[in-house]
Amino acid sequence: MTTPGKHYNYLFGPVPSRRLGRSLGVDLTPYKTCTLDCVFCQLGRTTVKTVTRDAYVPVADVQGEIKTWLGEGGEADYITLSGSGEPTLNSGFGEIIEYVHENSSIPVVLLSNGTLFWMPEVRESAANADIVKLSLSAWDSVSFEQVNRPHEDLDLDRVVAGQRVFRKEFSGKLWIEVFLIEGMNAASRDVERIAELVKTIEPDEVHLNTAVRPPAEDFVQPLSRERMEQLTDLFHPPAKIIAEFPLDKSAHIAATEETIMEMLQRRPCTARQIADVFGMHLNEVSKYLGKLSRSGRIGTRSMHDDTYYAAKGGKSE
Ligand code: SF4
Repeated sequence: MTTPGKHYNYLFGPVPSRRLGRSLGVDLTPYKTCTLDCVFCQLGRTTVKTVTRDAYVPVADVQGEIKTWLGEGGEADYITLSGSGEPTLNSGFGEIIEYVHENSSIPVVLLSNGTLFWMPEVRESAANADIVKLSLSAWDSVSFEQVNRPHEDLDLDRVVAGQRVFRKEFSGKLWIEVFLIEGMNAASRDVERIAELVKTIEPDEVHLNTAVRPPAEDFVQPLSRERMEQLTDLFHPPAKIIAEFPLDKSAHIAATEETIMEMLQRRPCTARQIADVFGMHLNEVSKYLGKLSRSGRIGTRSMHDDTYYAAKGGKSE
């Protein structure tokens, strides 16, 4: 984990990931800089919607933090490029992948919305990752507009074509995540259309997700687990429903007020989720949350009969 008390600007975690065990996150964009403005985004609405690639975060500074973290004996199952927006918008993301490979044996994961893979330079940089996870939750321009609210220069056909080319070029593992929303893209016919498109990209795995955490828009409703299970076989290969983080992986992560705060700056969590991540008793978590609430650093939001805690004015994954 990032060292308690030590402040990193671009690294967070290791945080539990539904897909990746303990994952050290690397944040390559300022809060919320993205090519899309998905209605289901856990970060809230996009503040800078762009398709312009730039040095949003200085590569040398990120490399410096990774060097420090590794030097202090940092351990994680994966190093994951993701964070507060779309990581491939950072023109130096390929250099960061190379740096991790040159300086550690920890595999690199790129979590991307895949909208810039029609650019050869993005595909070339991404091809050095060990795992690339892309997202696809629409089947035509209308559903793309409704679900993902893309930048005006993005065209779904071109986006998907770029992902197909990448598949041919990339020898690592390619995953596609499909985010399903009740009443928007989850009718069987709609999911079949998404599945047809996903199949043309030939991913190694397909992951189904739904709004289990507070989304950008209140009208976004999750699917039930039973409904998700009915849909998995529409995909090729059959989709996996992304499971919650397994408890045992997190047992040795120590919690402090600051590590909990760091987690809540990345994404809203329930007290139960925090307890599972840190292997703590709920009562102990409540103590920390009470203190953070009283000092005004976190707030709460209710959803699906659960209370979610989030940092005030901060970021979330
Ligand atoms: S879910 Fe991902 S791709 Fe969609 S707006 Fe949020 S950060 Fe961007």
